[in-house]
Amino acid sequence: MVRAVLVPEPGKLVLAEKAVPIIRESTEVLVRVKAGGICGTDLHIFHGTSPVATYPRVIGHEFVGEVVARGRGVTRVREGDHVVVEPIFFCGKCYPCSIGRPNVCENLEVMGVHRDGGFQEYVVVPERNVYPFSKDISWEEAVLMEPFTIALQVADRGNIASSDTVFIIGAGPIGLCILAYLKYLGAQCGISDIIPKRLERAKNLGADFVVHSGEENLEREVLRHFPGGAHVVIDASGLPETFAQAVQLASRAGRVVVLGFHTAPSPIPQASITLRELTIVGSRLQAHKFPQVVALFEERKLQPGKLVSHVFSFERVHEAFALLEHYPEETCKVLLSF
Ligand SMILES: [Zn+2]
Ligand SMILES: [Zn+2]
Repeated sequence: MVRAVLVPEPGKLVLAEKAVPIIRESTEVLVRVKAGGICGTDLHIFHGTSPVATYPRVIGHEFVGEVVARGRGVTRVREGDHVVVEPIFFCGKCYPCSIGRPNVCENLEVMGVHRDGGFQEYVVVPERNVYPFSKDISWEEAVLMEPFTIALQVADRGNIASSDTVFIIGAGPIGLCILAYLKYLGAQCGISDIIPKRLERAKNLGADFVVHSGEENLEREVLRHFPGGAHVVIDASGLPETFAQAVQLASRAGRVVVLGFHTAPSPIPQASITLRELTIVGSRLQAHKFPQVVALFEERKLQPGKLVSHVFSFERVHEAFALLEHYPEETCKVLLSF
């Protein structure tokens, strides 16, 4: 038997026992999970506020582990390899898939959301979903690879170059991953949050300026540093009002990238978009970003360790969830070790 972190129905979180997964296809690998990252999505699934999740569900879409067995047709990895799992499954036939955007496939399935995820001791996945990485990278650091793929996707969608000025609303784990990646790119970055400790982390990751949006005037601060507005504004907070703010803060010919799943509308006048000819884009999951992120980690270009605030053994998952829910100011990325 293997133990798994299961949400049988909204509001319940249990450690369940299930049969050891077995390889059924020659192109599959069996991975012994070593570490996973708890994400806002996992909390939404637990609370029943995910618009897409189905139940019962073994959660977890940010996870890494060791290959312990493989099907006969597997050629890219072998037993003993350390791998990160790309948690998305797509059809390869629909319009988005046909233009290289499988992350918005019409038949998209995400591990830990639409099908069972990585918060369990073993998982079986197709070999095309795993990417081996150097054993010099710790399990804890490697868990950050998936969140960093989200950051690379955002940079792509916002067409961000090193010469750009970028403002990020929200300094939670995703906002900070985006910041860390954009600083590596060389862009100038400001970031806001209502939690001072998160802004401390942002400074530590190289933010050019931070704005405490509970106390300072966001628009004035952004314009002070970036006269005319930011070339790119990223809403990593995802509230109806932050989307409207993001549009307001963008420069002429600017881009606005949104990541939120809120269903409430935001008041955004057409004129703000037309007069400045803004490009407003959504960014969901990632497309083809794992190889690039693995390379960046192996070259030590990012600072994933700075994003990890806590590590719990998976048996203490309830404590980890309670910490995230009740002490958001104390936490950044909270990991489970297996
Ligand atoms: Zn996530
Ligand atoms: Zn598709």
